[in-house]
Amino acid sequence: MASQVYFTNLRTGYRNSLPAKIERLALASGLEDIVRKGGLTAVKLHFGERGGTAFIRPVLVRPIVDALLKAGARPFVTDSGTLYVGSRGNAVDHLNTALLNGFAYPVVGAPLIIADGIDGTDEISVSVNLKHFPEVMIASAIARADSIVSLAHFKLHDAAGFGGAIKNLGMGAASRKGKMAQHSGVAPKIVAKKCIGCGLCFEQCAHGAISIVDRPEGAASTSKVVQIDRELCAGCAQCIHACPQGALTINWSRDFPKFMEKIAEYAAGAIRGKESRSLFLNFLTQVSPACDCYPFSDAPIIGDIGILASRDPVAVDQASVDLLNQSPHLPSSCLKGEDHYPDKIRAVYPNLEWERQLIHAEEIGMGTREYELVEIEGGKPHL
Ligand code: SF4
Ligand code: SF4
Repeated sequence: MASQVYFTNLRTGYRNSLPAKIERLALASGLEDIVRKGGLTAVKLHFGERGGTAFIRPVLVRPIVDALLKAGARPFVTDSGTLYVGSRGNAVDHLNTALLNGFAYPVVGAPLIIADGIDGTDEISVSVNLKHFPEVMIASAIARADSIVSLAHFKLHDAAGFGGAIKNLGMGAASRKGKMAQHSGVAPKIVAKKCIGCGLCFEQCAHGAISIVDRPEGAASTSKVVQIDRELCAGCAQCIHACPQGALTINWSRDFPKFMEKIAEYAAGAIRGKESRSLFLNFLTQVSPACDCYPFSDAPIIGDIGILASRDPVAVDQASVDLLNQSPHLPSSCLKGEDHYPDKIRAVYPNLEWERQLIHAEEIGMGTREYELVEIEGGKPHL
């Protein structure tokens, strides 16, 4: 059976501001039905990397928070730390970045909480028993929340094809260890020539996987170098963040279909136990050609379309991809020229079978790729 995906375009007027339309969209798609009075609701979004500009505008988060408060929930606005070393690698940097990007309490109307704690280790193991993972490591504030509202800025992604509701929760709700498991599941890569043998990584490893050993003679100026026992390594990534030399890096998985399937399984874990208390909104605005985790946002590849909302994360992502591909491209973007680009994701990333994310999410029972687009307030997509 097809799932309903509600849609509003971005047309506004004196009595019809965009925040008001967003609140009505959320209510139409069932926001009041997903919360329990007094329950904690995680409003999961991406605060944007420092230098990025395509993330959801903070003032557009407010109507969702207001609607949750009116419904009797206790909302908090949240994201989890990054695996890579950037401006959101720990809770202090992350909150500072969120504030610099405009996500302040007085703007969004709710407290900001970094879901996986000060250093990405505040996590809860959630049993899923799926193809790649028997259990997934979810940021504890999201795992403990009573209900979830996903606010995803929909864009392209250089490994997942696109980022929407599934990725916002799959990667975005995972702890540092969970992110590592999706990207590789193996130990960090050692860049031996950068290592000075200082041992800071050794102090961070709770699994006894790191040793500092003699370096082969003449290989570099320092006599010691790091070594990782891959059998003992739990892939928590703590050492990557501890190394001041950048000598430990993520062993990025290049197996893209498997990566997409893992994201879907983590998303299933993020909403496990609260499938009926989750709502997913995708903002098809400033649809940039790459992930919001970069410290820049390239020009959007299509004009702004609107906002989608559904109780079904697969349906809302499928509808988002369809609207993307039905829209004319912007020649001022990386999609130059007059061609039509019926598959804009492959036009930017020719080797990515982006459908795998949706196919696997459907296979594991997260939702359906069949949907009915319900336009609220006469708001047809202007394509
Ligand atoms: S990833 Fe974690 S478990 Fe593995 S070596 Fe680094 S700190 Fe130790
Ligand atoms: S990997 Fe980094 S933290 Fe570990 S010993 Fe080498 S330089 Fe020090």
